[in-house]
Amino acid sequence: MNKKIVPFTEKQIRNIIAEYPTPFHIYDEMAIIDNVRKLISAFAWAPGFKEYFAVKATPNPYIMKLLKAEGVGADCSSMAELALCEKVGIQGHDIVFSSNDTPYEEYKKAMELGALINLDDISMIEYLEKFGPLPDWICVRYNPGPLMKEGNDIIGKPEEAKYGMTRDQIFEAFRILRDKGVKHFGLHTMVVSNELDPNGLINTAKMMFELAVDVQKNVGINIEFLDFGGGIGLPYKPEQSFVDYNFLSNGIRNYYEEIMEPAGLGNIRMSFECGRAITGPYGYLVTTAIHHKHIWKEYIGVDACMANLMRPGMYGAYHHITVMGKENVPKDHLYDVAGSLCENCDKFAIDRPLPEINDGDVIVIHDAGAHGHSMGFNYNGKLRSAELLLHEDGSVTRIRRAETLDDLFATLDFSNL
Ligand SMILES: *Cc1c(COP(=O)(O)O)cnc(C)c1O
Repeated sequence: MNKKIVPFTEKQIRNIIAEYPTPFHIYDEMAIIDNVRKLISAFAWAPGFKEYFAVKATPNPYIMKLLKAEGVGADCSSMAELALCEKVGIQGHDIVFSSNDTPYEEYKKAMELGALINLDDISMIEYLEKFGPLPDWICVRYNPGPLMKEGNDIIGKPEEAKYGMTRDQIFEAFRILRDKGVKHFGLHTMVVSNELDPNGLINTAKMMFELAVDVQKNVGINIEFLDFGGGIGLPYKPEQSFVDYNFLSNGIRNYYEEIMEPAGLGNIRMSFECGRAITGPYGYLVTTAIHHKHIWKEYIGVDACMANLMRPGMYGAYHHITVMGKENVPKDHLYDVAGSLCENCDKFAIDRPLPEINDGDVIVIHDAGAHGHSMGFNYNGKLRSAELLLHEDGSVTRIRRAETLDDLFATLDFSNL
């Protein structure tokens, strides 16, 4: 169970809307900080434990900066994400570059920033060497394929996933890297996504510990860095519960003591690259009901659309909805809450029991703090919305303005028509 509450009153949010019209995303600064502190302190036992925030989840420099102040690094996989790190002053091994299908210029940028390079494929060794020297530190990404039994809804079966290397390739890659003089080695995987069962995450860690020991046996090198990827899930539905960080940490610790310490690998640095779990629950898409329509079903039209939050339309994902000021009104209406795209999947909710909604009601869509604004797009010429940061004292900083038509048309040349 988790309470789907919002960090503002109706009066407060209407005051904010008076200054920043809907739709917008608003992030609860203190809740993000508290949450990441909890995660980091749960792993206080682990030497050099680091959370690398998956920048793609919420690529906003203000969010990255407040996380940086908590000792959080950045997980990047594109030029833009690296450039954001540079702007925020995140560098060196505070960046892990976990990319795939990567052009050299992105590796080059990552190496200039001193990032930990995580190779998605064995062929990347030769590819990197074509253009320049290998860095001293290299991490390689593992795909267990059918060796791992359970799959996961978003990533699917590992053998169907495009990421990482097979077990044999991992050993081969480390041999090649060692022979080429690379000094320090890391191992990465990400086989679950939006996982609410901590045992799924604990088993990933166990698999990685065993692999690190096998690498030691087969290749004769000691891995110094282990990265379990992202994947800590969110209780999008009220009846689901948050992953217990202490339970997760204890489960990992047990395997660490059982597998790593006897192998002399008790000093390995562990990390996660969570995005969703860090900011997801603490971001809200705020929109206004602007139309209602009764045909074969009952529709509420809002001023946000799938371009602001894609997950419901793309994955059929559930996002909880609060109608401001009607929190305690009986949910005796069944609505489809829709946006304005010319796509029928542009719905935030289908057949959702909600209180009666009137035009002008403020509708809050929960758990939009990660993979929300960042997955936005401009289909139908929809403009990307603003992002606001809500401070503990109730004040607000606009951390991204809404796009204008000029932004949208900036790449068009109307002068020679
Ligand atoms: C997407 C991604 C993450 C973050 O995943 P979350 O579900 O947001 O935790 C981390 N690492 C890599 C390599 C990814 O592709």
